[in-house]
Amino acid sequence: MNAALHEVEQLDAQDPLRQFRDEFALKDGMIYLDGNSLGALPKVTLARMETTIREEWGEGLITSWLGADWVNAPRRVGDKIARLIGAKAGEVIVADSTSVNIFKALTAALSLQEGRKILLTEQTNFPTDVYMMQGLASFAGTGVDCLAVGPDEVIGRLNEDVAVLLLTQVHYKTGQVRDMAEVTRRAHEVGALVVWDLSHSAGAIEVDLNTANADFAVGCGYKFLNGGPGAPAYLFAAERHHHAQPVLSGWFGHARPFDFEEDYDAAGGIERFLCGTPSVLGMAALECGIDLMLRADIAEIRRKSVSLAELFIERMENRCGDFGFELVSP
Ligand SMILES: *Cc1c(COP(=O)(O)O)cnc(C)c1O
Repeated sequence: MNAALHEVEQLDAQDPLRQFRDEFALKDGMIYLDGNSLGALPKVTLARMETTIREEWGEGLITSWLGADWVNAPRRVGDKIARLIGAKAGEVIVADSTSVNIFKALTAALSLQEGRKILLTEQTNFPTDVYMMQGLASFAGTGVDCLAVGPDEVIGRLNEDVAVLLLTQVHYKTGQVRDMAEVTRRAHEVGALVVWDLSHSAGAIEVDLNTANADFAVGCGYKFLNGGPGAPAYLFAAERHHHAQPVLSGWFGHARPFDFEEDYDAAGGIERFLCGTPSVLGMAALECGIDLMLRADIAEIRRKSVSLAELFIERMENRCGDFGFELVSP
């Protein structure tokens, strides 16, 4: 056995996360490094999907909305995600895709920022974040402008015209980690609100939204949270912003959806950020991924990812430097 492999095996033997490998349906010997794009399949998800489909849907049919608690799943799973990202129960809801939640968070934030017209983001943000912002700005009659600037210019561009700043906490290409508390503080100083995209941070690093005094956040269910392809995403709104109005006023965001009233009356809490019927099957799979993540210590996950990254960087420098590779991550 070569020395490098031996070193890795020794590290592995002491790894407190080691037991989790058996929780995933990965082929023997596979080293999967793409959890940032599609998380692996937890074994327990297979059984859960079988039950949800065969029993809850197949046998329970419509009674499962109450009988299997489908109707509360967006809030139930949201409360679990809240524990991963430093939010309180009742501040996170599971719904839609990250892209759609970006739209809802931006419009809700705008509803609190009368007179301010600038949506600010970083040019190299994940493309859908910028696209959703551009679409909102171009929507007839909003009078809103989208400003996308270089990563180092964001803070300097904050001023009293900025309604909302949209940033991703961990950059999808460079791995740069933003100081959430500091950026939020700088934005609040000029009266701007911040929407944080947690797609590459929740489940990978410690996230503490309420300590940072965050306003809104969104994130993805199918990456580090292992929710499965196209898993529903989530949205956080700080309790103090629960009167904000996302434009998408679907019936599940109504205060009394099953009264079938003629006019829209937004739910009082985080439920107003729902839109249409929740994706029950997707949510069942996502809940399995979240439950698994909650059993792990996020500080251990971070420690391990840092040590693996350091090993990778060292090996690249030693063995591949001559081939013109250079480290771009800060
Ligand atoms: C993966 C990712 C998304 C994904 O958006 P979807 O609407 O779920 O496709 C959005 N933002 C960031 C920063 C991402 O990394």
